[in-house]
Amino acid sequence: MADDLKQELIDYGLSIGLDGIGIAGVDAVTNPPQQKDFDPSDLVSDVKAVIALMKAFPEGVLELDEEDTYTFLTGFGPAYLTLERELNYIGNKIVQLLISKGYDAKLIEVNHPFNRKEQVGGAQLHQPYHKAVATQAGLGEEGIENLFLTPEFGPRVLLASIATNAPLEVDGPKLVNKVAIEGDRAGLEACPTSAISEDNYPPYNFNRNRCLWGIMGGVKSAGVDEPPYDWTNAEDAMDKIDEYRSKYVKFDELLEWDKAIGWFPKCVACSNMCTVGKEEE
Ligand code: SF4
Repeated sequence: MADDLKQELIDYGLSIGLDGIGIAGVDAVTNPPQQKDFDPSDLVSDVKAVIALMKAFPEGVLELDEEDTYTFLTGFGPAYLTLERELNYIGNKIVQLLISKGYDAKLIEVNHPFNRKEQVGGAQLHQPYHKAVATQAGLGEEGIENLFLTPEFGPRVLLASIATNAPLEVDGPKLVNKVAIEGDRAGLEACPTSAISEDNYPPYNFNRNRCLWGIMGGVKSAGVDEPPYDWTNAEDAMDKIDEYRSKYVKFDELLEWDKAIGWFPKCVACSNMCTVGKEEE
């Protein structure tokens, strides 16, 4: 019965556009290092499993020329937002299927607003709680760049999750130590803001403020890779956004895109350059 339901969910999810789906155990994803306050029982009181959902970017979207800001904004921005909406839509369809069978289920959207102060590590394309779930659901593993790496697509995916009280057999972290390529530092070395360190391991080797200079548009608008001192040393660089918007017209203009079409990361250099999941030339 539980196996039938799991297979039905997998078949349904893949038929409506998912590129990967797996089941994580509740204990393994409760208060994980990446999101210390994540507890799926806050969402579904008698939670029995957390479902990881994955959708891949169309080929080439992350390889757009980052130096050409207009091409990047008009090409990558809408593609990211379309994929985010598609994955959230698919997640809601799966939630509806579970509810129609008498179970409780709650979607944790691609960019669910968890408490940033409880997060450790990077949130470039993949939010910390989704990385923890997708790892424990056997879809891939977290790489040195703090990106979630899958064998098929590398980091070029978005993730969402569903907490449910449906009894589903757990897949487990079956791809840990099997996806990242030994010695591959291409994604790490591509980072313009030096947000990632080789001296520790994920999620503890990541400087979020430095990455925020990239993903919030500092590199593209200021034309400077190194974040300003007060930005890097702020308790949370997000608190500096308004100050920098009023200081720099280009920064303000760039963030107007978020108001017009929705938020998307303004830097994907690490995901673009990571060689995992790329065909050999
Ligand atoms: S390459 Fe860009 S997105 Fe990746 S860690 Fe560095 S600043 Fe963040």
